[in-house]
Amino acid sequence: MEILGTYNMQGPIVIVGSGISAISLATEIRANNSAVEIVIISDDREAPYDRPQLSKEYLRDGENSSFRLNLERAPDVEWLRGQRAESLNTDAKRITLSNGRSVAYGALVLATGAEAKRLPNLVGSGVPITTLRTLEDASFIREHLRPGKKLVIVGGGVIGLEVAATARAVGADVTLVEALPRVLNRCAPFKLASFIADYHANRGVAFHFDRLSKNAAASSLLLDNGRQLHADLIVVGIGVVANDALAKNAGIACDDGIFVDRYGRTTCPDVYAVGDVTRQLNPVSDRFERIETWSNAQNQALTLGRALAGGPVLPYSDIPWYWSDQYDLQIQVAGIPAGDEEVFRGRFADAQFSIIQLRKGKIVGVASVNRSREFNIFKRLIASDRLLDASILSDESINIREYVKWI
Ligand SMILES: Cc1cc2nc3c(=O)[nH]c(=O)nc-3n(C[C@H](O)[C@H](O)[C@H](O)COP(=O)(O)OP(=O)(O)OC[C@H]3O[C@@H](n4cnc5c(N)ncnc54)[C@H](O)[C@@H]3O)c2cc1C
Repeated sequence: MEILGTYNMQGPIVIVGSGISAISLATEIRANNSAVEIVIISDDREAPYDRPQLSKEYLRDGENSSFRLNLERAPDVEWLRGQRAESLNTDAKRITLSNGRSVAYGALVLATGAEAKRLPNLVGSGVPITTLRTLEDASFIREHLRPGKKLVIVGGGVIGLEVAATARAVGADVTLVEALPRVLNRCAPFKLASFIADYHANRGVAFHFDRLSKNAAASSLLLDNGRQLHADLIVVGIGVVANDALAKNAGIACDDGIFVDRYGRTTCPDVYAVGDVTRQLNPVSDRFERIETWSNAQNQALTLGRALAGGPVLPYSDIPWYWSDQYDLQIQVAGIPAGDEEVFRGRFADAQFSIIQLRKGKIVGVASVNRSREFNIFKRLIASDRLLDASILSDESINIREYVKWI
């Protein structure tokens, strides 16, 4: 592990953003350094909240769910809420806000996240339409989710599927349109994707695969095959783009995401970035990617936070992973969904299984449904260089924990 020594910070640490990465960073800095000045700039007027609940508990239970982030462990922070960071002068080390105020920094951390891609061709039709990224979006969807209401979801990614599951739980009619022949194209192995699509179909979700949405009329969505889908609400879940304009306009290297190294450093001195906005080296694929997961946003921020607080400057190289809750399925996926060999453990019929991807005998990915303990063992193995025997991994009579101890 390469340790870069320690930072000797002069001046305040300014954080832009108020999502999980920004709050984890502020909390970790404060836990390790009670003296350093911390300023948080956020364009959101809302008190900070956690996004994963927005498609799950909050959509179902509203204010009764626990979706607010805990700020108690980040005391003595100057909050500039409802202020957009508009421009960055890296020579003067100052950031200018939407109200004209200029803020000086010793270290600047961009935690600006991402925003949902939209479909402009669907707007203005009269059917209520939204994406789902913010608390406001989730509240809008909640207002329209009623038993018997017709919800059309465009996009079969994690967000679209979670909204579908929650909407079915409250009794709405759900139709999902996907441009490709399968769901979860980017982030799950084929077998898991097929299982999840069947699970939804068996619970009443109607799928239209290989179809594009063309436009929306007063009360329906028109598909490219001429089919009209009646809709009381359309939710678009077709991915996100990084909020990297601030960095890009300041000459910092970006490509739909701010390039950072394993220490969270951008290409500009004293400017760092964490969370969804970053493009970083994925230790499994060995490519620079955006890793849009909660655990990445939190852990990348914690590692940088310790360093900015004066602790050792350590590299961050966690194995990417995410979870998703749909109906009674706890889905967990780590690594990459593509190897040269695939091992299946468990039974689809019990909704309890793991799919393990191997490349040249090493685990590069695991996807589990309702098998959390096993998932954690396989996730740890992705980080190791151990060679594993596929026939043993697939044998349910062998205790995996014991097997792993002996190889
Ligand atoms: C509905 C939903 C469900 C999810 N569920 C899961 C899940 O189950 N599992 C999982 O692993 N991941 C999930 N995720 C992904 C996870 O929530 C994100 O990876 C995580 O929130 C990223 O955090 P972040 O702090 O990097 O960015 P964000 O949460 O996007 O926060 C960025 C903040 O910066 C602010 N900002 C941007 N630009 C500026 C500016 N110029 N000036 C001031 N402020 C600015 C934004 O308003 C925003 O508040 C989900 C995401 C969504 C939307």
